[in-house]
Amino acid sequence: MISVWEKETFYSPQDIVIIGSGFAGLWSAFYLKKRSPRLKITIVDRGIIPTGASTKNAGFACFGSLTELLADEQRAGTEKMLELAAMRYKGLEMIRSCFPSKEIDMDMCGGYELFTPKENNITSDLEQQIDYLNELLQPILKKKPFKLADKKIDSFRFKKVIHLIRNDLEGYLHSGKLLNVLLHQVRLMGVQVLNNIEIKKFEKINDRVQLETNHAINLSAGQLLICVNGFARQLIPDLDVEPARGQILLTSPIKNLPWKGTFHYQQGYYYFRNLGNRVLLGGARNLALSEEKTYSLETTPVIQNELERFLKQVVIPDQEYSIESRWSGTMGIGTEKMPILKEISPDIFCCVRMSGMGVALAPLLGERVAKMMT
Ligand SMILES: Cc1cc2nc3c(=O)[nH]c(=O)nc-3n(C[C@H](O)[C@H](O)[C@H](O)COP(=O)(O)OP(=O)(O)OC[C@H]3O[C@@H](n4cnc5c(N)ncnc54)[C@H](O)[C@@H]3O)c2cc1C
Repeated sequence: MISVWEKETFYSPQDIVIIGSGFAGLWSAFYLKKRSPRLKITIVDRGIIPTGASTKNAGFACFGSLTELLADEQRAGTEKMLELAAMRYKGLEMIRSCFPSKEIDMDMCGGYELFTPKENNITSDLEQQIDYLNELLQPILKKKPFKLADKKIDSFRFKKVIHLIRNDLEGYLHSGKLLNVLLHQVRLMGVQVLNNIEIKKFEKINDRVQLETNHAINLSAGQLLICVNGFARQLIPDLDVEPARGQILLTSPIKNLPWKGTFHYQQGYYYFRNLGNRVLLGGARNLALSEEKTYSLETTPVIQNELERFLKQVVIPDQEYSIESRWSGTMGIGTEKMPILKEISPDIFCCVRMSGMGVALAPLLGERVAKMMT
C-alpha cells in the first residue's frame, strides 16, 4: 500500500505521462517543458535505466550513407528519402545547439563508406552516384557531403577495400553522456522521472487517461505520450512496428589505430567507429533478419562470429586485440522507415519506430511532439 505522502508527491495526477525514457521520451519532455513550463510531466520507464536502444547504440551522429540513401530512395521515393535525411541532419544540429560537444563527446570528425569487390554493382559508376546524391542533398545541407576518398585506403590499412567515400558532415557522440545530460536537464526543468515501473495497460476514462502499472499503483494523466519504440506493439498491438535486435562488439585498445571516424558498409547494415583507441563494430543483422526480430537482448554466435570475421579480414587485419565486450539493443522498425508520430486516439499520442537513426531523429521529433500536444 502506498502512503498519502507517496500518493500526493510521486503518483499525483499529471498533465502528461510519457512512457519510455529513451531519447524520444526525453527530447519530447524537454520541448514540452520549453513550450509550457507549467506542465506537470512524469516519464516512466520499466528499466532501472532506459533499456531499449538509446544507451545500447553505436553513437553515430549521421544522416545516412550513400548506399543507404540510395536504397531508401528505391524503397520510398526521392521525396521521402530527402525528407528523412533532412530530419536527421536537423536533429544533429539541434543536439549541437542544446549541449556543448565536450559534455557529450560529440565530434563531427567525418565518416566514410567502404566498398569491397562484392559491391561491384554500384562501384562501376560510383562517381556518378556521388554527383547525383550530392546534387539532391545540397539544397538541404548547404554542402555537397560525399566525395571519393580512395587515397585513404592504404593509410587506414583496411583489407579487401577498393573504394572509400568520405562524408564531412557526420561524426559521433557518447550516447550514455547524451542521455545523462538530457535526464539531468529535464529534471532541472521539473520533469519527474520514475524508473522500474512498467505500464501494462492504458484506458481513457472520462477526461483522463488511466495507466495500470506492474506495481500496486496506478497513474493518471490528461494526455499520454508513448515513446517505447521497438516495444510499441506490446501497448498498441496493431501498430506497424517490430523489434529488431542490433548487436555490437567492442575491442580492447589498439596500438596506433590508423583511422578515426564513423564507417558504414552495405547500406549501413555494418557500421564501426573508433572509441578512443578501441573499435566499436555492430550490425550484420541482414544475415539473420527474422531471428533478429526479437525482444531478447542476448548476443548470438551467428552475428558475433560474422562481426569478428569482418573485423579481422577487413577492418583491423594486422592488429593485436581482444574483444572487451559485447551487447545488443532493440530497435523499432516497420514496413516504412519514417517514424510514427501521431495522435492514435483523443489525448493519446505516440512517437515510435525510430529505426537505426534515433539519436539524430529524436530532437526534431520531440519538438514536433511538443507542438502537437500543446
Ligand atoms: C545496436 C544499435 C545501434 C544503433 N546505432 C545507432 C547510431 O549509431 N546512431 C543512431 O542515430 N541510432 C542508432 N540506433 C538507433 C537508436 O539508438 C534508436 O533509434 C533510439 O535510441 C530510439 O530511442 P527511443 O527513445 O525511441 O527508444 P528506446 O531508447 O528504445 O527507449 C524506449 C524505452 O521504453 C521503455 N519501455 C518500453 N516498454 C515500456 C512499458 N510498457 N512501460 C515502461 N517503459 C517501457 C524501455 O525500457 C526503453 O527505455 C541504434 C540502435 C541499436 C539497437
